[in-house]
Amino acid sequence: MAELTERPFPPGDYPLVVVGSGPGGLQVSSALGGLGIRHALLSADEQPGGMFRRWPFFQRLLSWTKPYAPVARATRAYERYDWNSLIPESDEHRAVMVGLMDGTSYFPSRPEMQAGLEAFTSRTNLKVRFGCRWTGTSRLDDGRFILETTDGEYTAGTLVIAVGVAEPWRPTSPGMELAAHYADTQPVETYADKRIFIVGKQNSGFELASGMLPWAKRIIIASPSPARLSVNTHSLVGIRARYLQPYEDHVLGGGVAILDAGIERIEPGSPGDAPFRVVTRRSSDSVEMAFDVDAVIAATGFVAPLLDLPDLGVATFGQSRLPAQTPFWESATMPGVFFAGTIGQGSGGLKKHGIPSNSGAVQGARYNARVLARHIATTRFGVKLERPTLAPASVVEFLLDELTQGPELWHQRAYLGRVLSLDPDDGIRDEGILPLAWFVDAGGPDAVAATLETDGTGAVYPVIYLRRGGSVSEHALEAHPLLDYRTASARSALASILAPVLGGSSIPLASS
Ligand SMILES: Cc1cc2nc3c(=O)[nH]c(=O)nc-3n(C[C@H](O)[C@H](O)[C@H](O)COP(=O)(O)OP(=O)(O)OC[C@H]3O[C@@H](n4cnc5c(N)ncnc54)[C@H](O)[C@@H]3O)c2cc1C
Repeated sequence: MAELTERPFPPGDYPLVVVGSGPGGLQVSSALGGLGIRHALLSADEQPGGMFRRWPFFQRLLSWTKPYAPVARATRAYERYDWNSLIPESDEHRAVMVGLMDGTSYFPSRPEMQAGLEAFTSRTNLKVRFGCRWTGTSRLDDGRFILETTDGEYTAGTLVIAVGVAEPWRPTSPGMELAAHYADTQPVETYADKRIFIVGKQNSGFELASGMLPWAKRIIIASPSPARLSVNTHSLVGIRARYLQPYEDHVLGGGVAILDAGIERIEPGSPGDAPFRVVTRRSSDSVEMAFDVDAVIAATGFVAPLLDLPDLGVATFGQSRLPAQTPFWESATMPGVFFAGTIGQGSGGLKKHGIPSNSGAVQGARYNARVLARHIATTRFGVKLERPTLAPASVVEFLLDELTQGPELWHQRAYLGRVLSLDPDDGIRDEGILPLAWFVDAGGPDAVAATLETDGTGAVYPVIYLRRGGSVSEHALEAHPLLDYRTASARSALASILAPVLGGSSIPLASS
């Protein structure tokens, strides 16, 4: 690990600075390096891994890596089954996580994930200036940014901020300061034989409740709205099956209570009885209910530590204070500031059927980072990307292959699309993976974008967006139980959707 402790990137002027060495910062740095974009990568941490160096608290992820999958490991298609490895520039460094997991679970342990991110960093020779904290931001007259850090000043025309969304946040209900935050949860044995009140019904609250089941004598989980379960929403929205044991305990009367109730206030309890009294108001009938408990934990979420960027003009929104972003993850109000990693969830995309992207998790954010790197390379550094040509006769098969095996479309449904441009003079060109919201809204020459979508029924089906003469039409194909869209009926449906642009070979095969 000697190379990890060297201190590259001394303060100075760089074309681009990336902040953060979690999965987001590492992935975007790897992709920028692959495109030849010189940049400095800075991190307040001492080692790679970001949030996964500490959390999840109970030491096991909720995102899986399947050692045995229907496709070969170390292929692009395998990324569908491995949600946790970062994507390298060279095939030999693919699927890092598989080799590090001990086989007891297909959810990596937190230390395995940390080891995976460290291994990716060292094997791909990523350089990071560790122990360098960004502390403030300003601008030069020429528009470049100045980053103040604990090591000195950096200047750059382009910033990629990948500082995560892991700063504890709690609501302002009276007495909430008496509660510990998820981030301050104590070793689990300290909750032995205790009554625990958990505020919040997201995955973090249910993770804590799951881990405390063998220890706590009573667990109450409360928030105003009912818990949503991923198995019911048919998506990653809601509590993951991995954390459902407290729910079953509640249903079967084992001592867990899941309440739909707002927290009115938290007060000190009566001496000798319980240290805390939590007063709630039931959502269904506004009845007040009070609970005497030994510990209160606020599993109420996190915010992005953007420091002074909002004062400088970066607009934020929502409880997590996410920056408002364009489809290419650029600040909507401050051009030149981009975001990678879980902060990218602030670029919401189309949210078809109300289902958000997976940008908040590694399996989605890793693709955003690669699209972002290509976007920055072309728009800010004049890099010309390869745009391979396709023969008209191969387009249907190409798109059905991508829809069946392409990991980007699978992990970022209705968010990223495979785009082919259809210029009669230039031929059919593969423009790669691009944000669907951009494709739909940006206008431009004739093109087609293929994506996967899902609805409330759990069906996953391809959708083809065809841009022709400036307007976009949308065409859904049939779902398939094994997600294999290379069927005769899909071929014929796609061929007829594309006939107006491909029929009669109106688009010639370009020469290069
Ligand atoms: C409790 C919890 C559990 C989760 N479990 C999962 C899971 O199982 N699977 C999954 O895919 N996702 C999970 N997530 C989502 C997770 O946050 C993201 O997937 C991912 O870790 C985020 O990576 P990131 O690089 O964006 O941020 P982080 O991993 O948070 O990294 C941020 C980096 O920025 C650096 N940084 C911050 N501020 C500064 C500064 N001022 N100066 C310099 N450096 C700075 C930090 O030191 C760190 O290196 C979970 C989130 C939470 C809160």
